[in-house]
Amino acid sequence: MLKAKTALVTGSTSGIGLGIAKSLARQGANIMLNGFGDSEAALAEVRALGVRVSYHGADMSKPAEIEQMMRAAEAELGAVDILVNNAGIQHVAAVEDFPPEKWDAIIAINLSSAFHTTRLALPGMKQRGWGRIINLASVHGLVASAQKSAYVAAKHGLVGFTKSVALETATSPVTVNAICPGWVLTPLVEKQVQARAQADGIDIEEAKRRLLGDKQPSMQFTTPEQLGELAVFLCSGAADNIRGAAFNVDGGWAAQ
Ligand code: NAD
Repeated sequence: MLKAKTALVTGSTSGIGLGIAKSLARQGANIMLNGFGDSEAALAEVRALGVRVSYHGADMSKPAEIEQMMRAAEAELGAVDILVNNAGIQHVAAVEDFPPEKWDAIIAINLSSAFHTTRLALPGMKQRGWGRIINLASVHGLVASAQKSAYVAAKHGLVGFTKSVALETATSPVTVNAICPGWVLTPLVEKQVQARAQADGIDIEEAKRRLLGDKQPSMQFTTPEQLGELAVFLCSGAADNIRGAAFNVDGGWAAQ
């Protein structure tokens, strides 16, 4: 379905980004990976799916590096037809204890990077007559939790940004949407599982049950593969008129 298309997925050396990159590659899309994890392993996993794959190590908190990455994607793979803004970090602390540099980093990586990639990718998508922008927000783009002020602010901002750009592109062949997962068991959440185990003096399995029990009624983690399949659907013709939507994939979290 996506043969001859190229997808750039930020933060795709692990977790959700790698899952989405692999789902798009299974549909034939060539892939530009990015992120600070094990790039060789991620490259090998995507290459095994039979597509062209490249990697750029740009830091999503640095606009100049984002520009270099966008130019490299076009130079090495020909275009950016599908842009998945996925890179993200978390920090958990009460607002009065929140380190200002962590606030700045979360806003830069989780929100502002999507502005930079989008402004640079849109002209080419319009010119080529097709494009998909998929922003990995979070259920925290729809509702809040205590101790996550920067993350919640960034993700609410990303959902708002998604809607605004979707309106600007509403009559164009480029669609812009957000995906809002609840708990997904990735390195980002494993840290929170470990912190919960330590705080409550319990083992890892019980910590997972308590985290799910607090928020996610299905009592199941969403998987990167499930999010990858949603991204594939958003790239299909059936999704041509889905614009500015925020899909929660959260086991019922936001329904409460
Ligand atoms: P992860 O830690 O596995 O992946 C994050 C990726 O971003 C990694 O590849 C990492 O190297 C990269 N990254 C971090 N800082 C970067 C920077 N400055 N520049 C470039 N890359 C950088 O986490 P994940 O859970 O897969 O998170 C992916 C996205 O999904 C994030 O935006 C996160 O907020 C969002 N999300 C995750 C969950 C969850 O439960 N795991 C839920 C909702 C939303």
